[in-house]
Amino acid sequence: MQKGEVSVYLLSYTPDPELVVATAMRQSRYPGGVKDLNLGEEDIIRLINLALQLGHFSVFEHISFTFAVEGISRACSHQFVRHRFFSFTQQSQRYVKLNEPVFIIPPSIENNPSALKIFESAMENIKKSYQQLLSLKIPEEDARFVLPNATETKMVATANARELMHFFKLRLDTHAQWEIRKLAKKMFEMVSVVAPHIFNEENIKYFE
Ligand SMILES: Cc1cc2nc3c(=O)[nH]c(=O)nc-3n(C[C@H](O)[C@H](O)[C@H](O)COP(=O)(O)OP(=O)(O)OC[C@H]3O[C@@H](n4cnc5c(N)ncnc54)[C@H](O)[C@@H]3O)c2cc1C
Repeated sequence: MQKGEVSVYLLSYTPDPELVVATAMRQSRYPGGVKDLNLGEEDIIRLINLALQLGHFSVFEHISFTFAVEGISRACSHQFVRHRFFSFTQQSQRYVKLNEPVFIIPPSIENNPSALKIFESAMENIKKSYQQLLSLKIPEEDARFVLPNATETKMVATANARELMHFFKLRLDTHAQWEIRKLAKKMFEMVSVVAPHIFNEENIKYFE
């Protein structure tokens, strides 16, 4: 049985994301135009912090981030797509034949030899049934009805920083399930590199 592991790639993001946010923040209280702003590093940090502290969250909507996500289960992707201000594209089970379906194994099952045996046997049966249906010329879009929540999926997801903050607030939290937390953590680490004054541990208390 093939086993999946979450991978995240930051495909693209708004250039100079922190300058864009700071410019929007400054413009909201500045009588002149943006060409006169000349914001330096310290201004950018101050304006970002001010926006967070005041809850002036619309300024974070001007920057967006696109991720490719692989190795998550359909259970996790179902939770992910509940975030309505993301834009999603997901690998289609209607058009992609899963010759060797990959399954995500929850740690609680992986670390319990008896549970793992039951899980692996169930997945093997499912894989066999899926392939038998395909060999009977049942189309992929119908054969997939036997596939489980554990089936690995791939997607591309785009969101602005405001929605990302909300996603991180909910999905880095200990109440969220382990898999989407793992995904959120990897996404958070990536945006922390390109927008470190917005996405850092200290700021999570401001996210809503
Ligand atoms: C720990 C946990 C357990 C969960 N358990 C369940 C469960 O058992 N069953 C279940 O169905 N879901 C469950 N969910 C999913 C949850 O209900 C939300 O659908 C999901 O977290 C997306 O959050 P959101 O709606 O705030 O976010 P987004 O869709 O990202 O929206 C962002 C924000 O925009 C605003 N907004 C968006 N759309 C509207 C709207 N139509 N009207 C008003 N305001 C809007 C809200 O302020 C919202 O918070 C769970 C989530 C978590 C984190």
